[in-house]
Amino acid sequence: PPDFNHLAAPVAWWAAHAPDQIALVDGAGTWTYAQLNQAIIMVRNTLLSRGSQPGDRVAVLGDNGAAMVALMLGASLAGAWVVPLNPRLSDREIDEIARHATPTCLLFANPGTGRARQHAERCKAQPLTIEGLGPIALAETTHHAPPEPNADVAALIYTSGTTGRPKGVMLTHRNLMISARASGAIRAISPADIVYSVLPISHILGFTGVMLGTLTYGGTIMLAPRFDPPGALRAVLHDHVTMIIGAPSMFALLAEYAALQGMSVLPPHHLRLIASAGAPLDPAVKAAVEACFGMVLNNGYGITECAPTIAQTRIDQPRRDCSVGMLLPGLDARLVGEAGGIGALHLRGPTVMAGYYRDEAATAAVLDADGWFDTGDLAKFENDHLFIVGRSKEQIIRYGFKIYPAEIEAVLNAYPGVRQSAVIGRGDGAHQDIIAFVEPAAGITLHLPDLIDYTANRLADYKRPAEIRLAAALPMGATGKVQKASLIA
Ligand code: ATP
Repeated sequence: PPDFNHLAAPVAWWAAHAPDQIALVDGAGTWTYAQLNQAIIMVRNTLLSRGSQPGDRVAVLGDNGAAMVALMLGASLAGAWVVPLNPRLSDREIDEIARHATPTCLLFANPGTGRARQHAERCKAQPLTIEGLGPIALAETTHHAPPEPNADVAALIYTSGTTGRPKGVMLTHRNLMISARASGAIRAISPADIVYSVLPISHILGFTGVMLGTLTYGGTIMLAPRFDPPGALRAVLHDHVTMIIGAPSMFALLAEYAALQGMSVLPPHHLRLIASAGAPLDPAVKAAVEACFGMVLNNGYGITECAPTIAQTRIDQPRRDCSVGMLLPGLDARLVGEAGGIGALHLRGPTVMAGYYRDEAATAAVLDADGWFDTGDLAKFENDHLFIVGRSKEQIIRYGFKIYPAEIEAVLNAYPGVRQSAVIGRGDGAHQDIIAFVEPAAGITLHLPDLIDYTANRLADYKRPAEIRLAAALPMGATGKVQKASLIA
């Protein structure tokens, strides 16, 4: 396919070249590229005929499904900035984003779940059904120019809020299309692929990595309204899925569920790639998932501000460790304040955001005049392969030592019966205490003194947690990450 310069361009191109190719499969049915293209044009025409102007923010709330795709791409074709919203957000979170983004309208994709319906009812909005949109002819006078790829913002995406209040990231058409093309190329996505999305397409990883990446290469996206292990495994085993892209915690739950059921998921011949992305991949999780699927679990590192993919492991160079792979072509990297090979990762390139919406101070804090963006992550390179050591903000300082929570979490996670853990620092200054929260796997009772002995044998004294607390369930964000900000030390 040629270079696409706006979000809706791939669907239009494939609709012209392979109209009957299946673009989407969701719980309600299948959509060809021609049908999806028609729906996108109907959404654009509806918005334009209602007076939508370029640069309007159009919020779109919905679970994964064809309606969500058509509404988001149709709004962007109308020149609006798409603000995708996950129904799992709380009323307060949605209100906060709406106050900040000041959208001119809020579109609801067919609410499949109670949460989305509740939001629609609360906002007194009539959910939009794509099937209900008739073909709307535009008046001759309606001015419509295709979006300008470099200058025009295509999406205003709020970060996960893992470390605090979500920030509104302005991404241009060019940011997103370059990212989708590059990450899809590394995964060699083609029209033969059926990509199962275990991620919400309202989050940047699902939005670009799954939705735009698959559509760019004419593949088929299989969208589950939400992540459920039995449904995902059924799709993998019976629906000819070729690729699964998900957060590490989702893969961990898949492997745990398969083990509990005594199921063997040894790869059906059509599954060719499983890829974890968006959060640290723990070695124990990687090993369990690889044992379950009988294939290598790829890793990808990204951040909303970089649209999002920064690095990916290459499918022809499988890794045993948890490296996040090599940088996407076109990105320059430098490690600032490097000591012992580890430094703050700064990046420059065509996928770096335009800035945070209505927040010049926050933008200036991470993006300098030369275009270098501070990821907030600490990293190291080994032979061009990138390793994320942790977030700068989460680094714990104790007796002058720098301690990375991921190292302690990896030890805890390797203990039999631990599903996941989260390590945070307590107190300020140079002598923070280490507090660990541990979530047991289903049906397991952990014996704390044994776990404490286990960590004592595997960690230097200054890295040992002052306290290990058992938690029935760690607080998880909508994108499958532990929300450490809500863990109180
Ligand atoms: P907020 O900025 O609101 O706190 P967030 O940072 O979680 O939310 P995202 O943009 O969704 O928002 O997450 C990006 C962060 O996720 C990265 O900065 C990095 O710390 C982490 N991350 C993503 N992928 C990986 C990976 N493969 N390995 C390690 N860390 C990763």
